[in-house]
Amino acid sequence: MFIRRLGAIGAVAALTFTMAACGSDDTTDTADGGDTGTGEDTGAGGDDGAMMDSLRIGIKFDQPGLGLREGDAYTGFDVQVAEYIAGQLGVDAANIEWVEAPSAQRETLLETDQVDLVVATYSITDERKERVSFAGPYFIAGQGLLVRADETEITGPDTLEGKVLCSVTGSTPAQRIADEYPGVQLQEYGTYSECLPALLSGQIDAITTDDTILAGYAAQDQYAGQLKLAGEPFSEERYGVGTQKGSELCQEVNAAIEAMIEEGAWEQAVQDTLGAADFTPGPGNPPEVVEDCA
Ligand code: GLU
Repeated sequence: MFIRRLGAIGAVAALTFTMAACGSDDTTDTADGGDTGTGEDTGAGGDDGAMMDSLRIGIKFDQPGLGLREGDAYTGFDVQVAEYIAGQLGVDAANIEWVEAPSAQRETLLETDQVDLVVATYSITDERKERVSFAGPYFIAGQGLLVRADETEITGPDTLEGKVLCSVTGSTPAQRIADEYPGVQLQEYGTYSECLPALLSGQIDAITTDDTILAGYAAQDQYAGQLKLAGEPFSEERYGVGTQKGSELCQEVNAAIEAMIEEGAWEQAVQDTLGAADFTPGPGNPPEVVEDCA
């Protein structure tokens, strides 16, 4: 009986010691883990190159086949490119914060640190490069014209004299019309989807922007048989991923785009998104990633 009691005391003492040891270890682990986690949770903004928990990505919300928000679902080629890049940077798609990036606001969103990346049918231009750094290109599109299905006069950019066109403020297609086709009456809206009712009602004669975007609208069920693309593309729009000026993230994005193209994920994304709108990528696709993030 005495022996049994000693044994019991010994067992309790051993158990207490073990629990104390575990407790102190646990406390240390939790404190370390918590500190690290909190540091990473502050986001990608100021800590380029480090593993990130989340990313804020600017996309279009109203361009079917490219960047479209329906409730809390985001679809389109730009969305898939953005998700692939995020994955390569170690960020789960669930941890992407999608931010609407209308054409005229893209540079400002990056400059004011409201987004880490812009993947929004964003053409690489020298003027924009003064304010943001581009990775890419990841796609080559071309400026086109969307008209009503019964339109016969508009067949290309040289048939636009006196016509009323809709495009979007801060976009390269609007700029090109203003610079090179002075006989056109250009109306600039905030987003391309705002041009659609005006086209259908006859207030305007055509919408001009990238052929990718126009094909996405033309393929919408609600416009079936009412719209068509006129003529051939008349510019080269090299889509880049905008990053904050000088961001180290930019080279990582270049590597991610290269991997997406090499692994076949780019081709699959094109088929799933633009392919569904009957859009076939033009010459130069998939592009070579040549931007130096300057
Ligand atoms: N790719 C052109 C641009 O970046 C037109 C499309 C758009 O406005 O998003 O300006």
